[in-house]
Amino acid sequence: MWRVFRPDSIAVLEDRRARKSLARYFAVMEGRLPARFLVSKHVPVSVKLSVSDEELWSAHERGLKEFRKLLANVDSGRVKLEDVKLEDVKKPGVSLLDLKVKLARRILKSCHFCERRCGVDRTAGKRGVCGVGERSRMASEFMHYGEESVLVPSYTIFFAGCTFHCQFCQNWDISQFPDSGVEVSQQTLARLIEEAQKDGARNVNFVGGEPTPNLHTILETLNECKVSIPSIFNSNMYCSMEAMELLFGVTDVYLTDFKYGSNECALRYSKVPNYFEVVARNHRLAFADAELIIRHLVLPANLECCTRPVLEWVVRNLGGMVRTNVMNQYRAEAMAYNYPEISRRLTAAEFEKALEIARDVGLQNLEP
Ligand code: SF4
Repeated sequence: MWRVFRPDSIAVLEDRRARKSLARYFAVMEGRLPARFLVSKHVPVSVKLSVSDEELWSAHERGLKEFRKLLANVDSGRVKLEDVKLEDVKKPGVSLLDLKVKLARRILKSCHFCERRCGVDRTAGKRGVCGVGERSRMASEFMHYGEESVLVPSYTIFFAGCTFHCQFCQNWDISQFPDSGVEVSQQTLARLIEEAQKDGARNVNFVGGEPTPNLHTILETLNECKVSIPSIFNSNMYCSMEAMELLFGVTDVYLTDFKYGSNECALRYSKVPNYFEVVARNHRLAFADAELIIRHLVLPANLECCTRPVLEWVVRNLGGMVRTNVMNQYRAEAMAYNYPEISRRLTAAEFEKALEIARDVGLQNLEP
């Protein structure tokens, strides 16, 4: 049925540029290569999980090097993942993904999953700016038919809570209410993902709110998950460096939100400091690690302070072939009425101008 109202999701299978920029994603979706988190499960790391943080991070760095070697061998067909026995991987050590889970649990004790770096012990009931507790809460989960054409149908898991306070958030009731939804275990999520894949999901899409405060749950879920399905990290990209390192080797596609070209706008509309430095850094890291789809939500009256600098930065730093979605979905919701300049819809002329900027700066792989 979805093929009828999203014919673009079929047409994109023949889209040369989409295939080029998301080559490995297509290969995983089409069953030709395993998802990256499965490769991480097959990388042995020789370390005891009881050692210091520093020793665990050193082991993680070694593990990532091994991951990249194994990934290259798997992708070139020199090694078949099914020939690497999981029992052998775990004897005498642990897998890279086990180690990531352990490191995420340690971070939770003085939370620095995002660059707010609250330092609170979420395992002791403390909460930071996002308000998310130790246990993740799921606001909803469903097969999403409204995402970018290449992702549809996308099995989407919405976590409650967010590291930002976007004043115009369309999901305010989820993002600003971290206690909404239901508590969910990694085992349940893993089984839901396995079912969704049988039902035709092209990927699993971790979003919110924001997935970053739930990174421990995401890693544990992927460690439980037995099917090969592309893992999408659908985020504002305000992750800490440590969170980015944990995402390396398990994320197939970073589906990013790059909204602001100015820190003043980010502070005013999302109440977040140092936006551009953090988000730009994480885009570079994500691009070096895996594949990327960038979303840029065009805000009314923000074309010169945000749209132009963001799109220019993308082309200058990541090139013109990165898949980019220039979005006109802005609605003045939630608290937007407090900001007269954005308390209205985007005009057709503003959106046309944004597309013109995208073409002028050299973006060649725009989501139609
Ligand atoms: S994830 Fe939440 S608690 Fe952790 S550093 Fe970010 S805002 Fe603070």
